Amino acid sequence: MHVIYGGTFDPVHHGHLRLALEVSDRLGGVPINLVPCHIPPHRGETGATAAQRLHLLELAIAGEPCLRIDDRELRREGASYTADTLHQLRKELGGDTPLVMVVGTDSFAGFDRWKEWQQIPNLAHIIVVRRPGIALDPEGEPARLLAERGVESVEALSGQASGLALELDPPWLDISATGIRERIGRGVSPRYLVPDTVLAEIRRIGLYGRAP
Ligand code: ATP
Repeated sequence: MHVIYGGTFDPVHHGHLRLALEVSDRLGGVPINLVPCHIPPHRGETGATAAQRLHLLELAIAGEPCLRIDDRELRREGASYTADTLHQLRKELGGDTPLVMVVGTDSFAGFDRWKEWQQIPNLAHIIVVRRPGIALDPEGEPARLLAERGVESVEALSGQASGLALELDPPWLDISATGIRERIGRGVSPRYLVPDTVLAEIRRIGLYGRAP
């Protein structure tokens, strides 16, 4: 099984890292590939450059065997689209290996605006991680996809290469990259929200505004 978890990671924080480990654990210890996106198609400017975000990720996962980085979207020209990444991975993995995309409810709520979203279930399974306070529109396409393709157990995902959806509800740390950037901008420490190694590097290069 090959699992990806995409995001802006601007910067990576303990919410992302804990979630990735929880999902890995529930899938029996498979590694989770963190995929930083290049130019986020649904968002504005990022605070850090792609190279800086990648470096912060490397510091954050150092020594953790269940977390990996896949920097393919940073090496690709132009906007990052999950469908392109999944097409590439499917080619590399062949037709039989289960491929899983992990996404929070907040991102999944806009799934039907993603490029080629209808193709995605042909390429991968989707794990939707419930984000407290965010509900899917029960009439919307994302909710319909979950209802039509939903399975109850992680074991089902191993039985076929793609096409299923699973909701997971691991503990969700109420941390956002926006909140971290905002704190740093106000000169307030974001310590304990991000790994100390990440914070030290943010301070060293003076990212996101004033140093606390
Ligand atoms: P921003 O505040 O800049 O929007 P973010 O902290 O929400 O950033 P992203 O990089 O945009 O992080 O999110 C990538 C993925 O991580 C999404 O699928 C999102 O649902 C998930 N995610 C965001 N925050 C958390 C958190 N606290 N715990 C677990 N997953 C999270």
